[in-house]
Amino acid sequence: MSRHYYIAGNWKMHKTRAESAELAQALVNELKDGKHKYLIAPSFTNIETVSAIIEGTNIRLGAQNCAPEEQGAHTGEVSVLQLKDLGVQTIILGHSERRHVYKEDNALINKKVKLALSKGFEVILCIGELLEEREAGRVEEVCETQTVKGLEGVSIEDLANVIIAYEPVWAIGTGKTATPQDAEAVHAFVRKVITRLYGEEAGKKIIIQYGGSVKPDNAAQLMAMENIDGALVGGASLKTDTFVPIAKFS
Ligand code: PEP
Repeated sequence: MSRHYYIAGNWKMHKTRAESAELAQALVNELKDGKHKYLIAPSFTNIETVSAIIEGTNIRLGAQNCAPEEQGAHTGEVSVLQLKDLGVQTIILGHSERRHVYKEDNALINKKVKLALSKGFEVILCIGELLEEREAGRVEEVCETQTVKGLEGVSIEDLANVIIAYEPVWAIGTGKTATPQDAEAVHAFVRKVITRLYGEEAGKKIIIQYGGSVKPDNAAQLMAMENIDGALVGGASLKTDTFVPIAKFS
């Protein structure tokens, strides 16, 4: 099996440049002998600072979003070309905060996914159900729709640069984690969806991260599940004390 563990930190709208630099430098030191694949995604304003610190290390540089267009009259947006210029390698798209707070729909997310892939970025496509959707028995339907629509028009070659992050919205930033069994059931289902869309080999290869209140004390149990290939970490990625044990779980 060619899958590897991939641990990503989403710093959201936290930290000044100096604070970002301090955390990035500490992670470079702590993770230099880490066995997994790593990524940190600072705020746009801190990307250049962090880029200089992690360049040439085993930590990839991520952005938390991008505009759906390459350039032009798009006040307040940030282009893939600008992200490339800063050394960004990976873009997180479809995060639940983008979907539910900033009302990004599947069509917009799909446009961003295709643009980012066309410019050579790796994409972490986030999917996940709201609590009311889980309670209504709609987990599979929601995750399938977000996966299928998010990847519409993405070729099998480009799929090699796509990671799916299953993040049940009710577990993000709430301290409530899906049980390893509940998360595993969704991961296995999403892998089946990818297999149906792209074939057996692609289904086996795709990395599916879990996100939603991942902490040092629950990371290993989640990662032990067959179809969970890593984590997208929010709150616990903001401190070395909490991110390093997750990143170095065994
Ligand atoms: C996230 O924002 O992707 C996330 C999973 O956040 P948290 O770990 O804080 O739940």
